[in-house]
Amino acid sequence: MTPEQLAFDRDHIWHPYTSMTQPTPCYSVASTEGVYIKLSTGEKLIDGMSSWWSTIHGYGNPALNEAAHKQIDTMSHVMFGGLTHEPAINLAKRLVEITPIGLEKVFLADSGSVSVEVAIKMAFQYWQSKGLSSKNRLVTIRNGYHGDTFGAMAVCDPVTGMHDIFSDILPQHFFADRPNTSPNAQWQPSDIQSLKDILTEHHQEIAALILEPVVQGAGGMHFYHPEYLAQARKLCDEFNVLLIADEIATGLGRTGKLFACEHAGISPDILCLGKALTGGYMTLAATLTTKEVAETISKGGAGCFMHGPTFMGNPLACAVAVASIDLLVNNDWEQQVKRIETALLKGLSPAKSLDQVADVRVMGAIGVIEMKQPVDSVRIQEQFKAQGIWVRPFGKLVYIMPAYVMQTDVLDKLTAAMVKVVSEH
Ligand SMILES: *Cc1c(COP(=O)(O)O)cnc(C)c1O
Repeated sequence: MTPEQLAFDRDHIWHPYTSMTQPTPCYSVASTEGVYIKLSTGEKLIDGMSSWWSTIHGYGNPALNEAAHKQIDTMSHVMFGGLTHEPAINLAKRLVEITPIGLEKVFLADSGSVSVEVAIKMAFQYWQSKGLSSKNRLVTIRNGYHGDTFGAMAVCDPVTGMHDIFSDILPQHFFADRPNTSPNAQWQPSDIQSLKDILTEHHQEIAALILEPVVQGAGGMHFYHPEYLAQARKLCDEFNVLLIADEIATGLGRTGKLFACEHAGISPDILCLGKALTGGYMTLAATLTTKEVAETISKGGAGCFMHGPTFMGNPLACAVAVASIDLLVNNDWEQQVKRIETALLKGLSPAKSLDQVADVRVMGAIGVIEMKQPVDSVRIQEQFKAQGIWVRPFGKLVYIMPAYVMQTDVLDKLTAAMVKVVSEH
């Protein structure tokens, strides 16, 4: 890449959460392969981020490449209104089969945030169809993250959720305290009290509880006790509130279960999937719901669910998603994630004794080093690159979620380099 191209990028292209006047450095990627990112400068970095949770099989997987080639030669896209196709049917079949019991109706959306918008609209439309339009607010947990669009932003943590500057123009929802009990600790019943109080007092105005089951991602990388989820499910039933599980980050094996809801043995009324759905090949998300929710919406005044994006059910994305799910199931993901969990526990534990480190936690194929102070993100990025790894921290959180196929010796290199950089930071 020429300096002119990089200058054009700096001058004209927005990057996620990056200033247009004082941009932080951006490295140019020439190609990706397996678990590696190859920079234009010739450096080869071990990818600790899986391109934000998505490339669970690594880059350039032959089966996914083949599925994409085959589909693009047949039909890359066709509108979904009044038309259907095998890739969508094959994908929906698999999703109904592998997701928690009761989720039978599949809405194919174009990104995670959109699938959250869809979930929220489903919840509101459900109660409206039942003549309960006063149920028009949501409850969620502090430190959550659900996306960057307006409906989703309104349920992100008001402080850590990156959207506090919009708080005046967002709908106001209820925020329950974040559960404190970590997954392996003794369950503390006081954890559920805040949610219980809100539901007791406000259930008549609340349509749904939306949460990230067991692992909260971009809002703080917190892991909490599955008993919270089990009790939240019970409270939702008791108070006539729908449960929306946002598994956009946790779904498809990341936490050690195929879906994080399984840690508590519960089914939500609405489930959001995204990120790893196509193995990181292209953007696709899904919102699944129950027969009861879908039928109630359809019997309501509108007669249908009021949503339908242009690229709904994109055949190319669906075909790759089908190949990705088949690969996941056939590759013994459970054993792979377990192996990664063991390697992360071993590799990251030396960071526990460092003065700069507040906490080290691992769950499934997720490893987090929480620092006491926010890191200097530009400097630490350079340090990681110099060590041959790609890790992109935010705030105090230095975290990785490697591809499930990452070999143990490569994982060991990744964690060792991560601990070394953190120790020098
Ligand atoms: C990433 C994420 C989203 C948003 O998905 P996008 O594809 O970025 O719109 C929503 N919820 C959770 C839990 C996520 O991790």
